[in-house]
Amino acid sequence: MKTSSAVAALFWFTSMALGCSPQEQSPESPPEPPKALSAAALTKLAEADKADGKEDKLVEKCPACMLRMYGDAKHTSHLEGYTVHSCHVMCAEALEKDPEKLLARLP
Ligand SMILES: [Zn+2]
Repeated sequence: MKTSSAVAALFWFTSMALGCSPQEQSPESPPEPPKALSAAALTKLAEADKADGKEDKLVEKCPACMLRMYGDAKHTSHLEGYTVHSCHVMCAEALEKDPEKLLARLP
């Protein structure tokens, strides 16, 4: 069964290569294009904005994980006009990948 594992490895490698999004047009990438979020997700986003004490379209607490920690400006995402600080680069990536799901998990 050595051949099939080699094929599997090749398939894995190919899908990894294809999985990488080709977003290297310019080194200075423009801001993220606005993603259309559902009304429910927008409400969660507004609540997360208010949760840090002020309505300033800045979500300071990481919405991507359950730790409710203050995020870091190094890991900033832009969602529907909101600036979101995540606590870790992985939180920022997860939020950008599936904001709908992560916002729905917020209390
Ligand atoms: Zn986080």
